[in-house]
Amino acid sequence: MLSLTKQMIEIRSILMQIESTENVQLPSIVVVGSQSSGKSSVLEAIVGHEFLPKGANMVTKRPIELTLVRTEQGETDYCEFPNMRLRNGKFTNFKDVQRLLTELNHSVDPSEVVSDEPIRLRVCSPNVPDLTLIDLPGYIQVVAADQPLSLRQKISDLCDKYIQAPNVILAVSAADVDLANSTALQACRRVDPLGERTIGVITKMDLVDATHGRNTLLTRDYPLRMGYVGVVTQVPKVRSLSLTHLNQRNQRNLTQQIADSESEFFSEKYADVDWGVLQLRKKLANVLSYSMAQSLDPAIKNIKREQEETSYAFKVRYNDRVLTPQTYLAHCADEFKALFQEMSTTFGREEVKTLIKHALDQKGLDLLAEQYWSSADLASISPGSSSGSSSGSSTSFISNASSNSSTNTSSYGTSTNSVPSLDNDQLHLLQKLDEMSAALTKAGVGRLSTNILVEAILERMNEIKLKSKFKNHPLALEQIDKSVQKILNTKYYATADQIENSIKPYKYEVDVDAKEWSSSREYAYGLVAEELEQCTVAFDKIRTQIGSRRLNALMTALTARARGEVAESLDQYSTDVVKTAEMALFLKQRQDILKARSTFIKATKCKSRKNKALCPEVFMDVITTKLTATSVLFLNFELLSDFYYSFPRELDAALQSLSENQVVHLATQDPEIKEHVEMQHKKELLSLALEKLQAASDFRNMREKRYN
Ligand code: GDP
Repeated sequence: MLSLTKQMIEIRSILMQIESTENVQLPSIVVVGSQSSGKSSVLEAIVGHEFLPKGANMVTKRPIELTLVRTEQGETDYCEFPNMRLRNGKFTNFKDVQRLLTELNHSVDPSEVVSDEPIRLRVCSPNVPDLTLIDLPGYIQVVAADQPLSLRQKISDLCDKYIQAPNVILAVSAADVDLANSTALQACRRVDPLGERTIGVITKMDLVDATHGRNTLLTRDYPLRMGYVGVVTQVPKVRSLSLTHLNQRNQRNLTQQIADSESEFFSEKYADVDWGVLQLRKKLANVLSYSMAQSLDPAIKNIKREQEETSYAFKVRYNDRVLTPQTYLAHCADEFKALFQEMSTTFGREEVKTLIKHALDQKGLDLLAEQYWSSADLASISPGSSSGSSSGSSTSFISNASSNSSTNTSSYGTSTNSVPSLDNDQLHLLQKLDEMSAALTKAGVGRLSTNILVEAILERMNEIKLKSKFKNHPLALEQIDKSVQKILNTKYYATADQIENSIKPYKYEVDVDAKEWSSSREYAYGLVAEELEQCTVAFDKIRTQIGSRRLNALMTALTARARGEVAESLDQYSTDVVKTAEMALFLKQRQDILKARSTFIKATKCKSRKNKALCPEVFMDVITTKLTATSVLFLNFELLSDFYYSFPRELDAALQSLSENQVVHLATQDPEIKEHVEMQHKKELLSLALEKLQAASDFRNMREKRYN
């Protein structure tokens, strides 16, 4: 059967998990005393180990809430920090505990001076009684030069907070200091004037003679109902012990060693007073058990009220809907998978084809612009031009478009008045076409198209993420990203390589039948028209920006300057304006070329695939269409379908691999869910605490009945 105190300690730790239960207080023993009064030594003597931060100038800056749990005989002593998620939760080496406590003590922000957030420590040992003790910072008389001036007051305020009822106070004072000057006793007197819940501990009894010692313990100045206990918590130095004594001592823990030396010290002179650590421990266990028993009924009443209030609030707010982090996560995962399913029906082969074709079209347009649509190149490939030189004045390649093309060309463009004869230059043009075709097929179409699909998938996944409940859960988003990356990474190179291998034949030859040519001609016409439209829009924008007349003047000057003719000075214009005008001139020239090219594509010459050398735009579409078809085949088969199949499974696996703590952390990343889960948790904890309190109350009643 558990002792009442043990049961209450368990209930206390349940209540400690609920933040807002200040009105449901179970008593604890709080330890106060001046700095160097011997407070730490007393606590260590009670626990049986040295574990508290020590050292010159060591000021405790946080309360240490110490729960002693008596374990079965034979078990090893260990410590736990219940509030901290430590990798190695159990400490059997008390020096490590001391180090960690020192670190936690130092971690208080200097601006805070002292913190009222307690460090929680559980000590489990077969040699301790069930107890809860709160070690508070020691009162200081004089603030050291390197300490903040407010330290003294802050410590005093913190102690005042803890020494309130129903807590039992353990007031530590040193025997060699006049009790009237004991800050601890002065504070106790204020909150417990009748001395009903204070136990006095007089340390360092070895420093005063027995008469003085006895008088102190029997003081009538501040009589305490539970009296004063004298202790000597310093074990005699090793040198003063015989070898037999030393061997015996090493096998006993600190409490026993101190108890041994105390029984030697406190002789019959102290027969009528309370002395010794063992007696103190017994007194503490009794008083705590008594206070716990006293606090049971008010605690049951308060917790019942709080539980009813919480249950009502939970019903009103959440309609009693039970939400655990696990069910919430499962619900979110289902929602996400439904959105993903929707994506798989709206983003498939056809959509991928459009994306890839568009990207290859852009690449094709760049190549056409680079190789065919620049004036110099047009001049150089001009079949039948007078000299065939690059500085020539004709662009028959364009002007071939139609018989009236010369009237279409603008005054800013190069003049177009020659008629092509393909015979001599046919080879050159075909070679140029081959070069353009090779430039495209060798441009890494595999990587390019795989990248486009990967980016499109990521973009759509991001859209789903933002639509889903997971958007408020960074940890879930991280798992989604990991799952996506995992699949895409495994598939990326294989897909890109497959595409690259399959388009190899096009690097050498591109066959085209009449039907393909005809449909590509239609498409190329549209593409050039679109390009022309874009040029026109961009040009018009500049014209509106600079003004028609000004732009005309600038463009005329720029054209004249380019031809080496005398031109109006451009000095009156800013560099930016001149640059913009240069762009306008370029756009105008490009417009002229595109107009001519679109007319040419529509004209008879381009109807026949035999004239492909003259119709690079059409031929370009033949290639991009073939490359697109091949790419899409593999992208769909190798990557997209596989992604649609694997992602839900990967996500499930990733979410299932989360630990319980991570699931809680994930769910509570959303403030609303956090509130819901916390309120539900609080409700559950209050019910549990109430159940246990009722059991403890039955236990107390049974015990009282037995003794009466
Ligand atoms: P705290 O600052 O109140 O926690 O005090 P400590 O427990 O650190 O003790 C302060 C000093 O008093 C240390 O040097 C201890 O060794 C010494 N001390 C503690 N208890 C006794 C005792 O019973 N007798 C003697 N002579 N010195 C003690």
